[in-house]
Amino acid sequence: MDTSAVILLVLLLGTLNTVQCQYEETKSADFEGSSPIDNIPEEEKYTVSALIERANKNAGQELDDPDIIEGDIAVDTGFQNAAPCTSRRFFSCKWPRSRDGLVYVPYVISSQYSSREKATIVKAMNSFANATCVRFRPRKRRIFFKDRHYLNIESNTGCWSYVGRRRGRQVVSLARRGCVYHQVIQHELLHALGFHHEQARSDRDMHIRILYENIIRGKESNFEKIKTNNLGTPYDYGSVMHYSRYAFSRNGQPTMVPIPNANVAIGRATQMSSWDIARINRLYKCSQRSYSE
Ligand SMILES: [Zn+2]
Repeated sequence: MDTSAVILLVLLLGTLNTVQCQYEETKSADFEGSSPIDNIPEEEKYTVSALIERANKNAGQELDDPDIIEGDIAVDTGFQNAAPCTSRRFFSCKWPRSRDGLVYVPYVISSQYSSREKATIVKAMNSFANATCVRFRPRKRRIFFKDRHYLNIESNTGCWSYVGRRRGRQVVSLARRGCVYHQVIQHELLHALGFHHEQARSDRDMHIRILYENIIRGKESNFEKIKTNNLGTPYDYGSVMHYSRYAFSRNGQPTMVPIPNANVAIGRATQMSSWDIARINRLYKCSQRSYSE
């Protein structure tokens, strides 16, 4: 090998190293500062709910923030049972289905994000198109036509979303620090499509036991049940909408255990489960044709 080749190789290795270091830095910066969530077992630290809980330490406290309930659900005033609104005939919070059988959800992604973050968000959005009739697409603003109802994806305090479609500009917050992960983005988008947390399901007491003594004081309301429409699907521990067994733990002990077998993994999804996908297709009455092409 001649000298110039060696120099080139050294330079190349140097660059690779820098990229790696930057990545490590970003990763650990997302998790600085101690909180009860630090006491949970290592393998549980990167579950959807652990990521959200960490990123949301300060969510809902700014003056302009909406109230945040159940960890990451935005409500304007007080408590709302949002999921049943999907079955309303008028003023439904479902996104409308267009004549071609597809459900278009217009979006705007804030310029706060880097191109890499934007790509991660768009990739998560496109994952819905592979298996459902939901199509997230950029908001159209033409002279004679514009999308009135749309999602505004922005880096606000933490990761949160409203449940179901609201009207006009609807914020989905994905903080650059801590929320731009595939599973977290899918989770927040599922809220925007009208889905609640799996452990809030009306039939959850048959599948999980809540250990109130281990929950952070004042956070017990995160474990309330909701009269959800379960769309004929079984309770799903592998749903990306299921919180982990250590969610809102004040002492590093579980707050939820599955029954009858306490050892079954819960809330460890790294992407939408096949039941998450089936629920979208049932709620929005997608025909097989719209997603199997
Ligand atoms: Zn959530």
